[in-house]
Amino acid sequence: MIEVVSAERCIECDKCIEVCPTHVFDRGADGIPVLTRQSDCQTCFMCEAYCPVDALFVAPRTEPLPADDPQLDEAYLIERELLGSYRRKLGWGGGQLGARVAIGPELP
Ligand code: SF4
Ligand code: SF4
Repeated sequence: MIEVVSAERCIECDKCIEVCPTHVFDRGADGIPVLTRQSDCQTCFMCEAYCPVDALFVAPRTEPLPADDPQLDEAYLIERELLGSYRRKLGWGGGQLGARVAIGPELP
């Protein structure tokens, strides 16, 4: 479930708002997405995958984290490189290279 939007990292591109299939986000008055309908989150990770600046964290569970969970702390996530980690694992945005590149011919 989506848990964290980093206001510090967010560049207000609205990508997460556009790709979310269940319309979890609204654009806040300051441009930073707000988790207006967090309970509608399907834990699909699309928002995290599309965020170009690794500003989102989706926890790999289908219910909200307890209020005392350290993963709600942005500093904790940054220290462990968890913000945007799904995107990097996919190989998007200069992260690890995907299988297509690993086994295929050199790309132009
Ligand atoms: S994980 Fe999927 S359903 Fe949940 S907020 Fe992100 S895009 Fe929406
Ligand atoms: S995709 Fe990332 S940078 Fe763009 S609005 Fe959402 S959180 Fe901000």
